[in-house]
Amino acid sequence: MSSTTRLPMRGRGGAPRLALVRTDDGDLPEAVDVLIEGAGHAGLAMSHFLTRAGREHLVLESRERLGGGWQDRWDDFRLVTPNWTSSFPGFLYEGGDPDGFMSRDEIAARVAWYAEVVRAPVGLGTKVLRVTPLDGPGFRVETSRGALLAQQVVVATGSYHTPRVPVHARNISNRVAQLHSHWYRSEAQLPEGAVLVFGSGQTGLQLAEELFEAGRQVYISVGSAGRVPRRYRGQDIFSWLADVLREGAAYGVGFPTAEQLPDPSRRFTAMPALSGHAGGHDTNLRQYAADGMTLSGRLVGAEGERMTFADNLALSLERADSFFDQRFRPVIDTYIERARIEAPLADTIAVDYQPAELTELNLRQAGISTVLWPPDTGSTTDGSMRLSSTSSAIRVTSAGCRRSPVSTSSACCGSTPRLPPRSSRPSWTARTWRT
Ligand SMILES: Cc1cc2nc3c(=O)[nH]c(=O)nc-3n(C[C@H](O)[C@H](O)[C@H](O)COP(=O)(O)OP(=O)(O)OC[C@H]3O[C@@H](n4cnc5c(N)ncnc54)[C@H](O)[C@@H]3O)c2cc1C
Repeated sequence: MSSTTRLPMRGRGGAPRLALVRTDDGDLPEAVDVLIEGAGHAGLAMSHFLTRAGREHLVLESRERLGGGWQDRWDDFRLVTPNWTSSFPGFLYEGGDPDGFMSRDEIAARVAWYAEVVRAPVGLGTKVLRVTPLDGPGFRVETSRGALLAQQVVVATGSYHTPRVPVHARNISNRVAQLHSHWYRSEAQLPEGAVLVFGSGQTGLQLAEELFEAGRQVYISVGSAGRVPRRYRGQDIFSWLADVLREGAAYGVGFPTAEQLPDPSRRFTAMPALSGHAGGHDTNLRQYAADGMTLSGRLVGAEGERMTFADNLALSLERADSFFDQRFRPVIDTYIERARIEAPLADTIAVDYQPAELTELNLRQAGISTVLWPPDTGSTTDGSMRLSSTSSAIRVTSAGCRRSPVSTSSACCGSTPRLPPRSSRPSWTARTWRT
């Protein structure tokens, strides 16, 4: 089909396809009103709204199984966000454990369940390879199962599908196994010996904990991620964030929008670390060091067995410690005060352990057999060092497409999150948490 192809016009009120399409269901339709690329949380939510609006559409998903990107997580993965946040448009979380943290299989199953209940027309095992604008309205969409035309295309492919590592990885001794967290499933998969984890964001610290609890000696090259307490003033930190987002404006408090940030680069700040494991808890690097993990500053060089680190560990720990006080605590405390909420006082206990700076490390001498790269390290990547690519072969960007498909990425979405009412979220009983 040439680029002069014109899309047959279809009315907005065309009957939506209301049955799940499976890989063995034969050919794709020749044309569709709206084509959604990706059947994760975002793509399915879009399908729900289109169905409600009576818009014909089709969701194409490269995987053979429903469940979205969650299926790529490691075996013992737990959500960092409480279960009550795992709501879908039209379907708030109504399970019996709103304050728990779902496992990988539970959250993947929930996404698959949503596809069924909203009767999303999903074509599984169908990868979108290329989206080309037509001369007239619409797009030609090439997929692994043939081509079709679409009036509009929604890109809902998510992120985190392409494991990336810093350029230093290529200089590390071949003796050492290097694994991106995308491919990590469990501790048993790693060769015997100590593990060096890069990055101290949510994934890095959860994996460091998991390995340490399995008896591994663990080294962490600490990055720039801050941390927040799992619970603050009587409830999970996400409950406070949700309350402020939903009700804060009425009390003159809120978090800055992207436009209001003092420095635009803050939009790319690593997510603050905390964990949903074992009922949810803080992840405090100072506590880890006191317990026996070895910390270093940021990686600056690798040559065979020799790793060199910046002497910025103390600074990184201070920044992680102050992150909550600077970005969150004042907003939450002001909200509590102005909304006259009866919340217990903060009862956190500071950990003041100060680990020594480690600026050089010989991997062999330290008994390190594995280097683990969590997703947080991707910001310093060199494309040539990609270990693998599971993402779409071709992404349409505004630069390459005159009429850009819609992106559902939350980074591009300016809409206000819809949150469950406060009353549906039980409060935490106050207890002591280390920060
Ligand atoms: C390690 C880790 C931990 C996380 N923990 C949390 C957490 O605790 N809480 C939380 O809220 N969020 C968490 N997230 C983020 C969360 O995974 C994403 O925000 C969420 O999955 C986004 O949903 P989505 O629909 O945009 O993308 P996805 O769930 O990634 O779905 C996109 C779908 O598009 C498909 N696809 C991609 N390319 C193509 C193509 N070319 N053709 C067809 N289909 C395609 C993919 O196979 C996938 O199924 C975490 C992310 C990571 C990496």
